[in-house]
Amino acid sequence: MDATSDYLELKKKYNELQLRITRFSVIEQELIHARNLMDREVLIYRLMQQFNTRALEELTDKQFCILVAESLLEIFEVEVAYVCFDIPETGAAAIRHIEGFDPGPDKLYLVQEYIAGIFTDLPSGTLRNFEARPTDKIRDVFPARDLLITQLWDPEKKMSIQLLAGITEKGKPFYDPIRKDREAAFTVFCQQVLGHQLNRHKNQTIQEQYKALASEQKRITTIAELLLNFDTNPEKNIQQIVSLTNELLGGTCSIYEKTETELIYFSAASEDIPTPDWTEINTLFQVLCQSEQDILCRHVTADIAGMRGGEWLRRFSDHILLASVVRVDKKPVGTLGIVLDSSVQVNDSTFQLIRILSAAIMVEERRKYALKALSESEEKYRMIFEGTPNGIIIADPVSHQFLFVNHAACQLFGYSEKEFLALKITDIHPPEDAERIVEIFEKIGRDELRNVEEIPCLHKNKTLFFTDIYSNRIRFGGRTLIAGFFADVTQRRNDRRSILENNTELKKINAELDNFVYSVSHDLRSPLLAILGLVQLIQNRQKDPDAINRYITMIAQSANRMDDTIKEILEYSRNARLEHDIREINFEDLIQQTFNDVKHISQDPVQLEYSIEQDSPFYSDIYRVGTIFKNIISNAVKYRKKAADNNFLKIKINSGNLDARIEFADNGEGIPAQHQDRVFDMFYRASSSAPGTGLGLYICKEMVNNLNGTINVESSEGNGSVFTVTLQNKYKLQ
Ligand code: ADP
Repeated sequence: MDATSDYLELKKKYNELQLRITRFSVIEQELIHARNLMDREVLIYRLMQQFNTRALEELTDKQFCILVAESLLEIFEVEVAYVCFDIPETGAAAIRHIEGFDPGPDKLYLVQEYIAGIFTDLPSGTLRNFEARPTDKIRDVFPARDLLITQLWDPEKKMSIQLLAGITEKGKPFYDPIRKDREAAFTVFCQQVLGHQLNRHKNQTIQEQYKALASEQKRITTIAELLLNFDTNPEKNIQQIVSLTNELLGGTCSIYEKTETELIYFSAASEDIPTPDWTEINTLFQVLCQSEQDILCRHVTADIAGMRGGEWLRRFSDHILLASVVRVDKKPVGTLGIVLDSSVQVNDSTFQLIRILSAAIMVEERRKYALKALSESEEKYRMIFEGTPNGIIIADPVSHQFLFVNHAACQLFGYSEKEFLALKITDIHPPEDAERIVEIFEKIGRDELRNVEEIPCLHKNKTLFFTDIYSNRIRFGGRTLIAGFFADVTQRRNDRRSILENNTELKKINAELDNFVYSVSHDLRSPLLAILGLVQLIQNRQKDPDAINRYITMIAQSANRMDDTIKEILEYSRNARLEHDIREINFEDLIQQTFNDVKHISQDPVQLEYSIEQDSPFYSDIYRVGTIFKNIISNAVKYRKKAADNNFLKIKINSGNLDARIEFADNGEGIPAQHQDRVFDMFYRASSSAPGTGLGLYICKEMVNNLNGTINVESSEGNGSVFTVTLQNKYKLQ
């Protein structure tokens, strides 16, 4: 082997080695590069993890949108990023953000339009990697050259996100962040963003629902509490509802305005807001009522405030006026209105709430009408109950206790209402009638009896009076009670009694009159006939003076008889006619004078004896007492024992302060027992031993009655009679 060949050999080996070294260094370079890429990949996932952690924080949609855009720049080392969230179901607008470039307010719209265009027709989950052509107009407004876009949507929630990452014209000369091998990470990131957004939205909805539920619950509890604590006075309740309307709906002030009565119920959130004048808001509410809508929600523009509302409403321009008509039986009676700040959200639940509150007012209004009607009818019945002149008593059919009494009943029985209500039925009737009254009461309770007449009743002062009772069963408070209408008929009862008594009296008088006419005609006619007969005899015997004298004497006797009869009839009629002529009576004078007047009737002697015991002057009707004495004394003479010489009449008088007792005792022929009862009857005669009319003792009895005295007789046939008369001393009446 020569040196050259060795050298050549060596050189070849050296070159081979050199080549190998170069190859190794390339491999090494490649290894280093690969490692770098690996490190970057790890960093990307670490950064994505950090993003995940931050995304879980409580962020608004906008904040989250910014976070995603910033993270795109950081993770994928791009220069501009665009993020758009679209949440179609909520009605909220899409949220967009551009990071890394500010097109300025003028061009923002152009940029957004361009970007929206490049997402068109991009299926969900696909990536598009492209370079904007230098001719693309976008280059004027958006500096991106290389762009990576992706779009993902959730078909269930209809939520979509659009991500865009870009490199500017200048670019990064040594590094291409949006190479093919970044695409996987980009897709993963995009999915994570959508996942977060879905979760966030779910949470948000749950939270919102929870909040809504909580506030709904609070509203329901507040309304329930209000309803439970409702007052008996509807006015107070209406005011409470108005205050609650303001509180629950978060209003500036609330008003309930009554259409007919010009009444206003008002509640304001702050004291600065004055109660409006009725006229200031009435027109506004009238418009609502005429609109036939039950609920009205108006933005109070300066126009409306100025035109309709007047001074008061003007302060609320740019507020919301929400009002609901309150109807009773389809007729509008008022309007519940609330003024809300324009920032307050008016939604379905607001409408529902104002509807509930105006319904609550409607219930109270109805209650007011019902209460008014009730109090009017109560007033009416009270007027009838208290105004009637009849006593009304309402009693419990079981306990027999009184439950209601009217004023007239209290007056009738003399009890106060309180005293009355402590009594029961047996307490207002005489004890001896209690059993019968209870029986009647129970019959009424069974509806077997309604009217009872002349029921004896007891006044508080124990006087007895009589009532007619009309009773009825009534339903009251779910119970059956007995109502009795009491009419005082004591007067009517007395009147009827006296009519009955008068009737008996009249019958008696009528009978007496018959008797009288018969007897008078007989007693007057017989002496008259006798006179006529005697006159005839005189005419026939004109030449016989003795006979004529005899006849004339007989005529005179007959005429006297007629005269006696007529006198007695006169006495009788005078007793009925004449007023009392009360004077002091001197018994001794009276006896002597009377006896002197009558003693000539008798041919036989009659001995008069009298005794008078008197401690005070005696006053009575002089004419009647005289007639009584005359009739009894004359009878004693008339019915003496004929042809006896021991006849007597003994008069005994005991006269005192109150009355006088006068006894006329004779030992004459006496009265047979069977006639004794009737000798005081009109025209009754028990003896024919002396002439008479049968009127004397009848007249005595009538006169004694007239003077409130008594008269009676005790007699024994053949032995004599004792007539006893008592007479009232009318001294005190003088
Ligand atoms: P008159 O004497 O006209 O018959 P009176 O009414 O005075 O009528 O008396 C009624 C009757 O009572 C008399 O008819 C007589 O029978 C009887 N009588 C009255 N007084 C006496 C007396 N003192 N003694 C006996 N009988 C008498």
